[in-house]
Amino acid sequence: MLTTDKVQKVVIAGGGTAGWMAAAALAKLLGKNLDITLIESDEIGTVGVGEATIPPIRTFHRLLGINEQEMMRETQATFKLGIGFENWGNINDNYIHSFGITGKECWAGEFHHFWLHGLQKGHSADFGDYCFELQAARAGKFALSPNHPINYAYHLDATKYAKFLRHFCETKLPEGSAVNRIEGKIVDVVLNQTNGFIQSVTLNSGQVIEGDLFIDCTGFRGLLIEQALHTGYDDWSHWLPCDSAVAVQTKSTGPALPYTRSIAHDSGWQWRIPLQNRVGNGLVYCSRYMSDAQATDKLLSNIEGDTLNEPRVLKFKTGRRRKGWNKNCVALGLSSGFIEPLESTSIHLIMTGIIRLMRLFPFGGIEQTFIDEYNTKLKTELESIRDFIVLHYNVTNRQDSGFWRHCKQLDIPDSLAHKISLFKQTGRVFLDDGDIFRVDSWVQVMLGQGLMPQQYHHIAQTMSDDELSKFLNGLREQVNKAVESLPQHQTFVDRYCQ
Ligand SMILES: Cc1cc2nc3c(=O)[nH]c(=O)nc-3n(C[C@H](O)[C@H](O)[C@H](O)COP(=O)(O)OP(=O)(O)OC[C@H]3O[C@@H](n4cnc5c(N)ncnc54)[C@H](O)[C@@H]3O)c2cc1C
Repeated sequence: MLTTDKVQKVVIAGGGTAGWMAAAALAKLLGKNLDITLIESDEIGTVGVGEATIPPIRTFHRLLGINEQEMMRETQATFKLGIGFENWGNINDNYIHSFGITGKECWAGEFHHFWLHGLQKGHSADFGDYCFELQAARAGKFALSPNHPINYAYHLDATKYAKFLRHFCETKLPEGSAVNRIEGKIVDVVLNQTNGFIQSVTLNSGQVIEGDLFIDCTGFRGLLIEQALHTGYDDWSHWLPCDSAVAVQTKSTGPALPYTRSIAHDSGWQWRIPLQNRVGNGLVYCSRYMSDAQATDKLLSNIEGDTLNEPRVLKFKTGRRRKGWNKNCVALGLSSGFIEPLESTSIHLIMTGIIRLMRLFPFGGIEQTFIDEYNTKLKTELESIRDFIVLHYNVTNRQDSGFWRHCKQLDIPDSLAHKISLFKQTGRVFLDDGDIFRVDSWVQVMLGQGLMPQQYHHIAQTMSDDELSKFLNGLREQVNKAVESLPQHQTFVDRYCQ
């Protein structure tokens, strides 16, 4: 069923990370066929957090033709090889969920089967010892070298990133493509009386901006998708009870680590994101177990270096907008929902939302089939991320506070319960549709948080003891040698993009 005429005029409401990522991609790749306007309000500003990314952001940048060194210089970025989890399985336990591949897999099963067999045979090396990126992170090293390809993402300054993308739109778009930026506050959204589609938005200046397709990037307020279209929200706080964060920036006091630190505390967890010039710090917590004042005190007593701004408290409800695309409005970024930033997935979801929209772009008119396809794919993607985040709170031995005891007795989604029990009983992990994390990621977190499977694939036992030793020791030596050859991460950053 055709529900609108052709789509040519796109209006992006909001100019944070989501708004400018959408503007840059649509203008660069489809801009010759579209008329794109972005409205943002300096008076309202952006959320100002969201500084850790995951590797697919590099593909997004490649697609846009963004120069990495320039981007990193302008956003004070550093390299990220994974996330270090401290105190999650037990207090004083540490592990890194890295972006690398651990060991070598074979047709029948992944490397962890061989590692588990090795454990039985007395090989005591840590699972992470077989991963190049993980060991480089531990050693604080990094380089871009054709001899040792490395999988990485970035830590970047969120405010500077939006500005960088705005500058990209102003200076780097091909002839015939442009983004018309309008400074102003949207004060009204007018709906078409017949079909309920958004017809126009009105600014505080009185200017009326009409569009065929609206992209809501207005952050948590969801000005178009929720306040105007009343799309509804699925609340996931019964699975993920953290609902608050307090954030503060500090001056760097030493070389930047090439990974994010995620330190569990008695009512949530703390992040540390090292940039070139400063560190982004924040505490995610559950307001049922910790007040805003307690959280702020706790954060300020667990940071290094002078603070650069006042601590800022942010409130959120974990969940998803029932439809990411409703009528002629697509929500991207915080307006589409929020899952806490434990695995740095929000900016990634903005990117996949944009790509999905471009692949389905309804040039000839908005049909329900496009909308349904977008929403189905988004739902499976979000649910798989939700499961991965819940995993961290479920597979833990921590029972030392009201918050952790509360997490332990929470029901978990059936899909996750199945994954955990399959791994526990058989050592197997199979990915679901929409899973953005690899088997290696699931295994690193499950083992890292203390879940040891009762079995592993028998294929590992077909190796003789000697073969197994040679295989495991050889892999470890390769990793160690490669890591030894790398410079310190800070040295590389200074040279590459300071
Ligand atoms: C505590 C916390 C930590 C996070 N950490 C990470 C992380 O490490 N990694 C990650 O990937 N993500 C993270 N995120 C998510 C990330 O911050 C967001 O996904 C990202 O910044 C996108 O935000 P946004 O553009 O949707 O919203 P915003 O940054 O809030 O931008 C909203 C825009 O809409 C405009 N606007 C709003 N109302 C109006 C109006 N009436 N008229 C005109 N303009 C308007 C504003 O001016 C602004 O330009 C984190 C989020 C939180 C809350």
